This record gives sequence, structure tokens and C-alpha cells, in this order.
Amino acid sequence: MLTITELTAGYGPITALRGVTLTAEQGRITAVLGANGAGKTTLLRTISGLHRSTSGSVTLDGSTVTRVPAEKMPALGMSHVPEGRGVITELTVEENLRLGGLARGRVKADDLNRIYSLFPPLDERRHVAAATLSGGERQMLVIGRALMARPTLLLLDEPSLGLAPRIVTQIFELLKGLVDNEGLTVLLVEQNARSALSVADHGIVLNLGQVVADDSAATLAADDQLRHAYLGF
Ligand code: ATP
Repeated sequence: MLTITELTAGYGPITALRGVTLTAEQGRITAVLGANGAGKTTLLRTISGLHRSTSGSVTLDGSTVTRVPAEKMPALGMSHVPEGRGVITELTVEENLRLGGLARGRVKADDLNRIYSLFPPLDERRHVAAATLSGGERQMLVIGRALMARPTLLLLDEPSLGLAPRIVTQIFELLKGLVDNEGLTVLLVEQNARSALSVADHGIVLNLGQVVADDSAATLAADDQLRHAYLGF
């Protein structure tokens, strides 16, 4: 479980997060929604230690991890999949996956096989260069690479960006299966609020760095006023 209390962060004179408090329950998908510039990416980067908070705390499974450097987070159970689906294009799918396992030391065949069974399209393409993958396959690869570290918490930044609706549904269904079967905790940042709420259990809405709603996904999706004001659908 991830608990964030009164988290504040910014860039020089710009305050991007203003006292954000939220919880992501174990074995659940918690969506973080909001318009451009609401602070979603800054929130994930601050949780994972890529960006420094100015105040507040982050607790993962009972341990305080506030300001732990990003490179130490995978060993503590946190994996961050940033926006943009960055893979090493010259390396094969399998070589990219192996890089994700380095945080745990030696990469075992079982770990690779687990990813291939979760994402069958990657199994078919394991020995081809990552450059040849489609957008959806690349998204599977970056999620698979993060899972190679066997995290308890997965932070996902805008996985649906630029993907066809059919592929978004496929990726979100895979994610849901993973959470249901393995008890993973997921914090899912999305601008695509409609799709995110269809897969999430819980939702947080950010506006100008502040939490303006925190409720079950079903309640948020049914709130017409909130949808029109902040979620764009
Ligand atoms: P988007 O969906 O566009 O990425 P977001 O909700 O993820 O938006 P952030 O990227 O976290 O929002 O941005 C929050 C605020 O911080 C915005 O006002 C943004 O302009 C500002 N900001 C983000 N990154 C930087 C930076 N590197 N330097 C200065 N200001 C930044």
C-alpha cells in the first residue's frame, strides 16, 4: 500500500503539488486524473524519487521512502513506468526485459517466462529489435520491463497516450488481470479519464496541484459535474 501525506513539490517559483494526500490500496488500481498541468507527472516523479519534494511524506508498505533516490526504489518494491514508452530500440525485446531485472540481480528464466505469459505478443517477438514494435507492444514492453523487478507498487504515467482505443482496452485488461491475480498495487496517471475509470477501483482528481476529488471509480464516473469540470467527458 502507498500512502502520501501533504506532499508538496515544485520547480523554482512554480508550485506543482500543493499538499497532496492520497492512498493507493494494495491489490487495487488507483487512477490519478486531471487536465494538462494538473501535476500528475510531477506526483509520480516525486513519489519515485526522480523529483525532490519540498515537504510531506511517502510511505510504501509501512516504510517511509520520502526522498529515497530513484535508483534505490526498485529494491524497495517500487517500479515507475514514465510517459513516452522509452525502450532501447537497438536491443531485442528480451534484452530490454533483462535490463528491468537487473535491480534484482541475476535474471531468471522464470521471470522472463512470467512476462511472456502475461504479454503473449512479446513472446512472439522476443528476439526482434524493440525498434520494430508497435506502440501497443512497446507499452507492454515497458510495463513488462518494470515488472521484471517484481514490484509491489507500479507507477504508470499515461500508458494510453497515442494508442488506438482497442489497444488501450487490451492493455488495461492485462493490467487488471495482473492486479487481481498478483495483488500488485497500481497508481495509474491518465488524461484519458473515461478509460482509466473503467478499469480503476478508485480515483483521485488533481487540479492545479491539489486533490479536488477522492472517491470510488464508479462514484467519480457517475458525477456529471465533476466529469464536465475536470475530466473532459
Ligand atoms: P501533462 O499531462 O501535461 O504532463 P501533468 O498533470 O502531468 O500534465 P505536470 O507535468 O506535473 O502536470 O506539471 C505540473 C506543473 O508544473 C505545470 O504548471 C507545469 O508547467 C509545471 N512543470 C512541469 N515540469 C516542469 C519543469 N521541468 N520546469 C518547470 N515547470 C514544470
